[in-house]
Amino acid sequence: RRALGSLGKSRAKFISAEETTGVTFEDFAGQEYIKRELQEIVRILKNDEEFQNKGIYCPKGVLLHGPPGTGKTLLAKAIAGEAGLPFFAANGTDFVEMFVGVAASRVKDLFSSARSFAPSIIFIDEIDAIGSKRGGPDIGGGGAEREQGLLQILTEMDGFKVSTSQVLVIGATNRLDILDPALLRKGRFDKIIRVGLPSKDGRLAILKVHARNKYFRSEEEKEALLEEIAELTEEFTGAELQNILNEAGILTARKDLDYIGRDELLEALKRQKGTFETGQEDSTAIPEELKLRLAYREASVAVLACYFPDPHRPFIETDINSIRSQPNMRYMETSGKVFQRKLDYVNSIVRACAPRVIEEEMFGIDNLCWISAKATSEASRLAEFLILQTGMTAFGKAYYRNQSDLVPNLAAKLEALRDEYMRFAVDKCSSVLREYHSAVETITDILLEKGEIKAEEIWDIYRRAPRISQPAVNPIDEYGALIYAGRWGIHGIALPG
Ligand code: ADP
Repeated sequence: RRALGSLGKSRAKFISAEETTGVTFEDFAGQEYIKRELQEIVRILKNDEEFQNKGIYCPKGVLLHGPPGTGKTLLAKAIAGEAGLPFFAANGTDFVEMFVGVAASRVKDLFSSARSFAPSIIFIDEIDAIGSKRGGPDIGGGGAEREQGLLQILTEMDGFKVSTSQVLVIGATNRLDILDPALLRKGRFDKIIRVGLPSKDGRLAILKVHARNKYFRSEEEKEALLEEIAELTEEFTGAELQNILNEAGILTARKDLDYIGRDELLEALKRQKGTFETGQEDSTAIPEELKLRLAYREASVAVLACYFPDPHRPFIETDINSIRSQPNMRYMETSGKVFQRKLDYVNSIVRACAPRVIEEEMFGIDNLCWISAKATSEASRLAEFLILQTGMTAFGKAYYRNQSDLVPNLAAKLEALRDEYMRFAVDKCSSVLREYHSAVETITDILLEKGEIKAEEIWDIYRRAPRISQPAVNPIDEYGALIYAGRWGIHGIALPG
């Protein structure tokens, strides 16, 4: 085999080539089923001939899709490492340049380099940059150029003969929805694997991988600390978890300590949250008015979470150190089947309204800003789900897979009933926030002063707060809809005339 050094650097700056990646499946933690599937491919790659004699061929293309930082690149490298094959990587964005013809020739370069070292692995990260749907809106420009590149990929992949030495192409994207369907056809990227956010157990496993080369006081303490961090990092990616441990290591060294402790880990976690969500180091950079709005938003969410506690998802803490369009409140992750009654659905709609209701109450309807925008769409989404998919409302005992199944007059009925639920949810939410106005103010003050507040303190304030009694809220009136639904809806969808 030729040495990789012969791959002229000047010829292909956009390709990074590694003779051996040195990465193994041991380096990827969580989501064990992904490894099982890929292990199968590695086995086929390794025993090329044996499998071919049995008529089993390796897929030509594997597509990994999922959010950034979840370990797609790591997995691609692990496949190469495990199979002992050279690894050729390029980024989809590097194919698309302003000079016409570059994309196609770069794709050619990549494939011919890999082929001269076959069997080998090609990895194309952000493949959506070049492989997005043809004929769609040309947002970034360079549409024709992209199309040439995409066609070249298709040609290259169709050109392989599976019986000769294999080149496995691995693509990665976080936008499966915009990929051109031609890429996903049989004989191209026909193995699609979702790499999602890790579960709590997955996070613990990932933390353990990255704690291998770190010092802790004892094995027991390490286990307990990592367990605690895994609990507090819902929706974190593997890359973010790795950063927490690295940051904790740096903090430990800075303080001249021998072992990573709880303080360092929690400090690192806080920094991670701050930097990843706002791109800012600390909350001092958030303008005062936005801070005030954030504090009211979090306080309203906290009060509603006490008023209608979700038995399946107790809340942990919240803060105003990062700006997101959704509340910062963190919840315990729950496992197992959840028992949801109609009332639980309705309460969740009421809770979802809080950010919008409080902003309107405190700042006025003409003075809303985007930090409450998600609340409105989330509440409507929950209402539509209850109406369409549970069969628990006057809309009928039918189940609708999605809204496009609806005939026009049904759509109008849906809208009317959804508005009814939304009216109720907003009224109820604003009544709760007025009743507990004093608790809202107290929590807001604490958030402004300390930046964060824990569940325990929230509950304490909520229980002691003086309440201002409010007039009853009109109940949801499903009666009219029920009569109408009774004529056609009870047995399914038999439409009148
Ligand atoms: P992606 O390609 O999906 O954006 P990467 O593979 O570049 O993500 O992940 C960046 C780094 O984060 C990896 O090199 C690895 O150190 C860490 N990482 C991400 N996911 C995992 C995981 N499941 N197990 C262990 N480490 C992970």
